Amino acid sequence: MPRGSNHVKFIQNYIDGKFVAGQREFADVNPADGSVIGQVTEADRDVVDRAVQSARKALAGEWGRASVRERAARLRKVADTIESRFDCFVAAEVADTGKPISLAARLDVPRAAANFRAFADMISTSGIESFQTETADGKSALNYAVRKPLGVVGIITPWNLPLLLLTWKVAPALACGNAVVVKPSEETPATATLLAEVMERTGMPDGVYNVVHGFGPNSAGEFLTQHPDVNAVTFTGESQTGTAIMKTVASSVKPISFELGGKNAAIVFADCDFEDATAGIADAVFLNTGQVCLCAERVYVERGILDRFVSALKQRAEALRLGSPLDPATELGPLISKQHREKVVSYYSLAREEGANVVTGGGIPEFGNSLDNGFYIQPTIYTGLAESARCVKEEIFGPVCHIAPFDTEDEAVNMANNTKYGLAASIWTSNLKRGHRVAQQMNAGITWVNCWFLRDLRTPFGGMGLSGIGREGGMHSLNFYSELNNICIRL
Ligand code: NAD
Repeated sequence: MPRGSNHVKFIQNYIDGKFVAGQREFADVNPADGSVIGQVTEADRDVVDRAVQSARKALAGEWGRASVRERAARLRKVADTIESRFDCFVAAEVADTGKPISLAARLDVPRAAANFRAFADMISTSGIESFQTETADGKSALNYAVRKPLGVVGIITPWNLPLLLLTWKVAPALACGNAVVVKPSEETPATATLLAEVMERTGMPDGVYNVVHGFGPNSAGEFLTQHPDVNAVTFTGESQTGTAIMKTVASSVKPISFELGGKNAAIVFADCDFEDATAGIADAVFLNTGQVCLCAERVYVERGILDRFVSALKQRAEALRLGSPLDPATELGPLISKQHREKVVSYYSLAREEGANVVTGGGIPEFGNSLDNGFYIQPTIYTGLAESARCVKEEIFGPVCHIAPFDTEDEAVNMANNTKYGLAASIWTSNLKRGHRVAQQMNAGITWVNCWFLRDLRTPFGGMGLSGIGREGGMHSLNFYSELNNICIRL
């Protein structure tokens, strides 16, 4: 177990306020050099059951009786404690994911603290619906709703932004008075476990926050979604996994919230601020080595500026500094795992078979040092693929995009919307009317105009089609993580 150290050695499940071992262990691997940095104890069905029962017990105790004010105060303390252990969280996240230290320090860990503060504020200021109803006899009734916790929430998260996405769910769930059992990705178990230490330090009652480690099918993930005493499941990950979880929970009619994959488009009009657009799209394609669900893998550029745009993005891709995640100057770390790199490389080969022109990249870089044992990949740009090509249709989840030209606004909209996904889009134009007009036609849960990944935690976040079910953020999170009981009083 990490005890204030920067190096995770032994990572255990956390149940009822105690760290507990499981029957089996699996390795935690640093993707930057392939080294084993920890041993993780896998939760079997019995351990998952104990975690769920400890959450139930917490709901029946002090936590179940805590006022909104008490819960909000507790969440703010969690945020403060994350910040007091900032370096420890950054080190653990960097070691698990291989992401550049500058990114973890700028995005992942600050957002984790911000998630707890934001939902402490939101639960403190959220109102309640009430209606005065006229009755047939000329009298009236008062309707008002009260917010109740769902109970035990199962939280299953991916490896790309482990702490950020986990706390995006844990914070509103606790704000609403639930108890949680979280199952972080098997690739990135460390920060969810460090968060257990934070919960302990802040005096969070035992059983409110539980962690079970393991894999998906026939392991902790599936055991959690199958558990009859889990009242709701919230999941972020691949669309295919969403389908599997949906099947599992169907028999018990649990509320679900799904944030799934994407094949996001960026549309660049000739009237854009060229520097802004190329910088913004370089970020949208390559940030976190392309492993953000919001990343743009399809870029549509107005024909008049196509060549200039392709060469500007190529220049930016080639200037990206790949290297050790611990070097503050590094801009691009490795992919998460050997297996994921094999998947991305297979798409690089497929793109060639499908007739792509390789503008830059398409292979594996060489460093001549221990990083060659890591899972690095070159940032890659393609042109020339048909819109029906698999590389244009399927989520690759790597530092790669395909650039295609368009001639009219309608054509750009149709190409961008020609996908089964619907998570995010970005539009680059200096024409305000066009920005609004095109944004409103996007089949996406979130559309940025002249920016990307600019988030306000009060706004709805989620996807259409294969990209998910439901919205999180602001009141949308509070609504998912609670049940409304409407009370009608005859006056
Ligand atoms: P994944 O679906 O493989 O795994 C996500 C989590 O689900 C892991 O904890 C895994 O152990 C668990 N899991 C797998 N199978 C399961 C099963 N049958 N039952 C229960 N749990 C199971 O996803 P990943 O590879 O970790 O993450 C990458 C994917 O996540 C990409 O598709 C990406 O677009 C998506 N993503 C979406 C968002 C969003 O907000 N929409 C954010 C980040 C990532």
